[in-house]
Amino acid sequence: MHKNFKGVEKTVYGRGSFNQLDDILAPVRAENNQYFVFLVDNYFKGKPLENRVPAHDHDLVYYISVEEHEPTTEQIDSLRDEILAQKGLPSGVVGIGGGSIMDIAKALSLMLTNEGSSTLYQGLNLIKKPGIYHAGVPTISGTGAEVSMTAVLTGPEKKLGLKCEWTVFNQIVLDPELIASVPRNWWFYTGMDTYIHCIESENGRLNNAYSHAYAEQSMKLCRDIYLGENSGQTPENDDKLMVASLMGGLSLTYSEVGVCHALSYGLSKILGMRHCYANCIAMNHLEDFYPEGVKEFKEMVAYHQIDLPQGLSNDWSDDILTQMAHVSYGLPHMWLHAIGDNWQEVITIDSLKDLFRRM
Ligand code: NAD
Ligand code: ZN
Repeated sequence: MHKNFKGVEKTVYGRGSFNQLDDILAPVRAENNQYFVFLVDNYFKGKPLENRVPAHDHDLVYYISVEEHEPTTEQIDSLRDEILAQKGLPSGVVGIGGGSIMDIAKALSLMLTNEGSSTLYQGLNLIKKPGIYHAGVPTISGTGAEVSMTAVLTGPEKKLGLKCEWTVFNQIVLDPELIASVPRNWWFYTGMDTYIHCIESENGRLNNAYSHAYAEQSMKLCRDIYLGENSGQTPENDDKLMVASLMGGLSLTYSEVGVCHALSYGLSKILGMRHCYANCIAMNHLEDFYPEGVKEFKEMVAYHQIDLPQGLSNDWSDDILTQMAHVSYGLPHMWLHAIGDNWQEVITIDSLKDLFRRM
């Protein structure tokens, strides 16, 4: 069976395209209870963008801090309950922020129409009804969350996405001006998520001409941005990074992530480590699996003098290592792609613990 996936319905790309958001939303305002919910990264509170959010009088605007933790099932459920109790079903949801806000917007759109807790729907095709209209405006690039079919949530039992066709955004607005203020370390970690998506997509059995074409182009852009002679946070590179993120995400849609993401999920679930940072911590030690990718990754780390701590595992007890290994082991779709049918001969709880001990 080949994947039959749904893409984002509409995409606007370009400097200043954020100014078109009000016009884009106008036709949707007649839907449901005729108001919009804007979910904006708290970073923008008090910044010029706050005054540019095209909220009308009766709209709801939430400034959400993503600093303390990644999106949780509990957070989505209580936001949904609060919104429905206050004003009923909105016309749509708009997320303005990074991967965390993208996932909150996607998940909220689905949970506004699906009863019960979001924990019931963590997995593939468990959502029963289409969500409401949702638009995404990324303000930091790399995760590919703007194009993906999943909204990753951390619940009491698992870190897993609400994954189905209805998760995909109706509209995305890609305005590279919005990512100019990203702090340098986040610019690096989140950008590397894209690079790692491509390495993993390419190196596994699901790789094919379709996923390869996107990965190849995305990696070319990453090399310009992170290793090229005009490397760094420049407007030209921001233009490229937004496209690299998109294409890295599209490559994954038709392929799969691999070893680095499997380990990263263990780090995030058990230690609460942020996704992109956790990927960088893991990628640093995966030369056995991705020799060329890891070599180039290390060149990028050195070039930008990014501080990636070593010896973290000195503080991890055997129990912690075992818990992380179990989270990683429980992602067979990643291992099947990265290693193959015989993955359980190569990957065991003990071999995973050894990989974590390298960090
Ligand atoms: P993020 O949304 O967690 O934000 C990282 C930091 O950057 C935050 O402190 C935020 O306030 C700040 N920030 C964002 N935009 C900024 C700007 N323009 N200027 C200054 N600061 C800004 O970052 P992320 O790395 O994009 O997202 C990580 C999340 O994405 C994780 O929760 C992960 O699980 C999720 N994810 C989802 C998918 C998917 O397909 N759905 C894929 C990968 C990762
Ligand atoms: Zn990722």
